[in-house]
Amino acid sequence: MARYQRYGADVRRDVAHKTSFNLATDPRYKLFVFEALKVANMTKRAKPKQDEQGHWIKNGAAAKSGLNKAILASTWGKTKEFLGYKSRRSGKLAIEVPAFYSSQECAACGHTHSDNRVSQAEFVCQRCNYTGHADYNAATVIANRGVRLVLSGACVQKKSKKCGILKNKVGEVISEPVTSVSSTLGETEVSRLSGNTPAHWSLTQETPATATA
Ligand SMILES: [Zn+2]
Repeated sequence: MARYQRYGADVRRDVAHKTSFNLATDPRYKLFVFEALKVANMTKRAKPKQDEQGHWIKNGAAAKSGLNKAILASTWGKTKEFLGYKSRRSGKLAIEVPAFYSSQECAACGHTHSDNRVSQAEFVCQRCNYTGHADYNAATVIANRGVRLVLSGACVQKKSKKCGILKNKVGEVISEPVTSVSSTLGETEVSRLSGNTPAHWSLTQETPATATA
């Protein structure tokens, strides 16, 4: 069982890598816009339901469980994650936009109404009569929002934080607080704040027997 689970995870990661690579290296695309969806929230278990008498009634748990599996199996989150860095690497951009009413908004005129969604698959705008597949319309709405976001100048590259590693120029002398004690010709004795370590330190104590050996 563990082996099958592992195999499934490997296949999903492989698919996510190949999909994101193909998108990021395709010269036709420069901008990738994702709906800001919380996969963890979307794949929560269905809540138990009760009627007025307190009897447990059907809550669609089996259907929800199937949908959850389909969402997780699509490796949507991983693909988004991988495409984020792969697009940066190829000089492109992957962003997220809010997903509100994306399924009810008309991609052609912007009219937003629940009546636009005639069925699960069909979209007909009640104002401009734009007709199309509901998923295609929603994807176009998301893409338009992404383009507007980029044009508004809201997508600014964050300034990368500098690491706290000492950057000394080559040849620069690193000064350590030292106090000169006494000076003889050619030799300067210093006393460091952390204490001076004897130049030749032996762990084994010298005894008359080892000294003569
Ligand atoms: Zn319309």
